[in-house]
Order: sequence, then structure tokens, then C-alpha cells
Amino acid sequence: MTGGLHTLLRSLMPRRCPGCDAQLGASAGLCPACRATLRPQVQRHSPLHLHPTPHLVVLGPYRGVLGRSVKALKYGGSREVAGVLGAALASGVPSEWGVQGVSGVPLHRSRQQQRSFNQAELLGRATAERLGVPYLAALARQRSTGAQARRHASERRVAVQDAFVATGAPLPGTLLLVDDVLTTGSTLLACTRALQTAGVQRVYYAVVAR
Ligand SMILES: [Zn+2]
Repeated sequence: MTGGLHTLLRSLMPRRCPGCDAQLGASAGLCPACRATLRPQVQRHSPLHLHPTPHLVVLGPYRGVLGRSVKALKYGGSREVAGVLGAALASGVPSEWGVQGVSGVPLHRSRQQQRSFNQAELLGRATAERLGVPYLAALARQRSTGAQARRHASERRVAVQDAFVATGAPLPGTLLLVDDVLTTGSTLLACTRALQTAGVQRVYYAVVAR
């Protein structure tokens, strides 16, 4: 099916909430009941920080409404879902963090061409808008895993560490890094190293689920 026809058909069908499958009616992204379950928490413990200190905003565990919303975002690229989740994340960011800009974890260029969107960027843009700070395309992914497969093990480790580079965009001292899901934290840590190399002093994090 062509993209245009698909969009047309979708606009004719009653829209359903990705969180619970109820009809969305006039609301965009998630229905009021699912929105009411989004409660941002500031966390002190994660693989991203050695010592317990508030550094991470999370909406909750990767299941239920959040799990289904992340899938709708990742595989459907719904800007409306990104808008709701990003606004919820922004409402949990403490003002004392002094966040001056927001950036999303980049997809590799070839992956983004296949998918035509980056869910972390959609989330990051919505978060930045609600916080009233700029969204910054701060990072690029410089190697695909395909290239890594041909490397020796030791080189591969270095490749993972160096998977991200700063794009050269002017960056503020304090940045909020946004992704959809936090698991081991290795991606966000690799991004953090690249940002610090580019002169960012403080990096805070916001993820939908962990
Ligand atoms: Zn719902």
C-alpha cells in the first residue's frame, strides 16, 4: 500500500488509543485514562550514575500502557504519542537541574532512512518544547553494527565506546538526554562521553520506561 493511501485510510478509521485500544475521540495521542497513569518520577539509582543522586526522570516500568505506548512510538512513529509522553517527561524534570537544551539518542543514518523517523528525537523535541528550551541535534552515530562485525574483539569494544560523536552544534553546559527505554545504560553512557568530550558539563536523563 502506498504511504498516501495508508494515511488516507487511517484518517477515515476511528482512532484508537495505543495504550488501551479505547476510541480516542477528541483527545490526541493517548486517552484521558491512560494519560492519568503517566506519573514522572525522579530516580537516584541507575547504571548511568556511580553514586546515588537525582539524575533520571522515568515514567515507569516497560509494561502495560507504557509498554504499548513505546511500541506505538517506535513502530508507528506517532508524533501525537511522542507529544503526550514528552510533555509528561518534561513535567517531571526538576527546575533546579537547570536544563538548557534537550537532545535525543540518534539512530544510525541507514536505520533512520528505513524507518523515516527517530523515536528518541520525537520524544526529545516534545520534551524540549514543553520545557521551553531548544532541541539540539547534538550527536551522530558514526558506525553501524554491520561495520563492527568485521572488527577484532578489542577493536569492537572501542567501536562501541566511540559509536557516538558530537555533531559540532554549539552545546550548552547542562543537557537533558532523552531515549525511549533504559536497559543496560551503555548507549546513554556512550552518548554522555561524546557530549562531555564536546564540552557539556552536566548531563541529565529522561526515558519513558525502564
Ligand atoms: Zn487509553
